[in-house]
Parts: sequence; C-alpha cells; structure tokens
Amino acid sequence: MVLSCCAYGCNERQVTGGPITFRSFPTDAERKKLWLTKIRRDDFTPSKCSKVCSKHFTEDCFDRQKFGGTWLTKDAVLTL
Ligand SMILES: [Zn+2]
Repeated sequence: MVLSCCAYGCNERQVTGGPITFRSFPTDAERKKLWLTKIRRDDFTPSKCSKVCSKHFTEDCFDRQKFGGTWLTKDAVLTL
C-alpha cells in the first residue's frame, strides 16, 4: 500500500528517499482536533494509518537535531 497524505487537496505520496516525510496524527485529542481543522476535513476520522505530509508544516516544526531534520517535534501543529 502506498502511503499518501490525507489533507484535503493534497496528493503527496511517500517516495522512498524522497523529500516529503509523513507524520501520523497526534494521540492528544486537542491537537488531533487542530490537525483536522487544518487539513479541512471536518467529517474525517483519522485511523492509525492516516498520515499528513511535511508540506503542511513550517520549517520550525522540524527537529533539526535529529535524523537529518526530517522528524517533527512533538508539539508540531500543521500550519500550512
Ligand atoms: Zn500533504
């Protein structure tokens, strides 16, 4: 199965070694709600497999200290 972004209007798919990285929904209910608002899918219920791509986050959401900067910090919220 190809991993793809669940944000409205976004067609990014995971490419091995590609520039786009994917992030699962947060477990925190409040933060999850915030993400849902940002991806503009009010009726959408994210599953464990639902992911959002790195295009929806600004630079400062990435932890540059880790793994070449591809991982989001744990407080990251979608901004774009
Ligand atoms: Zn996306």
